[in-house]
Amino acid sequence: MHELGFKNTTAFINPFVINSLPCTVFVGEDGVTLSDDRGLNFGVALLSPLVAGTGVHMRLENRKFKLYLASEYQNQLTEIATKREQEKRETIERLEQLRKSNLMFNQALNLPFQWKIDIKVRMSGLSENSWGDGQSRSTVYHIRVMEQFTEGRLKRNIGDFLCGKDHSKHQGYTDGYDLDHDKVSCAACLKIAARFNHKGDK
Ligand SMILES: [Zn+2]
Repeated sequence: MHELGFKNTTAFINPFVINSLPCTVFVGEDGVTLSDDRGLNFGVALLSPLVAGTGVHMRLENRKFKLYLASEYQNQLTEIATKREQEKRETIERLEQLRKSNLMFNQALNLPFQWKIDIKVRMSGLSENSWGDGQSRSTVYHIRVMEQFTEGRLKRNIGDFLCGKDHSKHQGYTDGYDLDHDKVSCAACLKIAARFNHKGDK
């Protein structure tokens, strides 16, 4: 954004001017003086004249007056808003992609019994390391067995994790959490799950 050069035309700054900043002021008939729509003279004059009536954005930056073409300033605001919108859309898309790939990963485990993703709930409450919904960033996602099954010497009951019995505080089900967007990350669960996955290959 191009900064407009100016000089002060008054020895002291009108406090009303300070109070009105940031604001848009307009170039006077002489092409250099600036006043607002109420006619308040802002006590500055442009070094290079502009067409009378041109809008100038005036603000304080580090206690110093800064002047920009109002149209340029507005364009920059629009650009920033557009960029934020774009970033927001990209984040949503990225999360949606992640959710899809996690879902595919989970489905590819191809387990022959009902299950869902679940976590061991520690009653640690919220901390700076949590997502804000009670899950920690280091949370391990297990396979929660939802249907009793026996596979050789491996036997699991409803509510068990595939890697073993859930001894955590909230045994059984962590209701209220939508873990659909996460993927199984427990190494022990995945190791056991791999047995089932490879069975079909033979
Ligand atoms: Zn596990």
